[in-house]
Amino acid sequence: MPTLGNPKNTIEIIQKYEFAFQKRFGQNFLIDTHVLDKIIAAAGITRDDMVLEIGPGIGTMTQYLAEAAHRVVAVEIDTNLIPILKETLGAYDNVTVINDDILKVDIKKLAEEYNGGRPIKVVANLPYYITTPIIMGLFESDVPIDNITVMVQKEVADRMQVGPGSKDYGALSLAVQYYAEPYIVANVPPNCFMPRPNVGSAVIRLTRHKTPPVKVQDPALMFKLVRASFNQRRKTLQNGLKNAPDLNYSKELILEAIESLGVPATIRGEALNLAQFAQLANYFTEHK
Ligand code: SAM
Repeated sequence: MPTLGNPKNTIEIIQKYEFAFQKRFGQNFLIDTHVLDKIIAAAGITRDDMVLEIGPGIGTMTQYLAEAAHRVVAVEIDTNLIPILKETLGAYDNVTVINDDILKVDIKKLAEEYNGGRPIKVVANLPYYITTPIIMGLFESDVPIDNITVMVQKEVADRMQVGPGSKDYGALSLAVQYYAEPYIVANVPPNCFMPRPNVGSAVIRLTRHKTPPVKVQDPALMFKLVRASFNQRRKTLQNGLKNAPDLNYSKELILEAIESLGVPATIRGEALNLAQFAQLANYFTEHK
């Protein structure tokens, strides 16, 4: 049975090992059992699943994952946490802890080694300083993934699930929605963590699309167009695309492409939805 997930046992283990929290690793440990239960339920973990946990900390969520999953592989960067994890996860024979930086780990290889290449689930209370590279890395690599259920900064969760018209809409919204269906599971206040972060948090589940919701011949080109539009948010789409150093289209072709969407030539990129960015990318691919 999980023994962590409450303030008393968390403090005890931290004092026993004289563990010093490292701000640079984004260390805020969960101390609320209700939140932990919600994360496990939202991820839909069964006895058939392999779960990759990013940043197990002292092993709080890992204990819950070990109870629910077939196998848990947890990647933790902080060497000082390894002896602690040995103790807190000692009772589970289905957990493997790897002491490494998740951004350097070959996750596809892990999925092959521990799950025969079948889709894995990713669960994490993420270190907020690398939320975007972790999530984009998971989507852009060809790791077989079922869903990703993560705690992130509240604003970031909002950004992932909004569409045009919101101030939070941007490149991250479009990337996440191209690859997955986002669903906000819970908002989590600072007092659910030790130490308390100075931002609000939210748990978001990203269920990977079996096939993308839009057809794009060249997804890399679509994301270049997206970046060009949002890098110069206040400019028109036309100017954004013209000024982008990694795009090389004539003024005329850009105008034609925008007009092919049936929108005004003065439109801003932030007004386009995913389907329109896809259409724009396909136009450029077809009219090179
Ligand atoms: N899962 C624990 C919990 O919920 O209480 C800890 C979550 S804490 C917000 C983030 C964890 O990620 C820390 O244990 C931190 O050391 C670890 N971490 C930070 N950067 C990492 C990286 N690049 N690779 C792997 N783990 C990392």
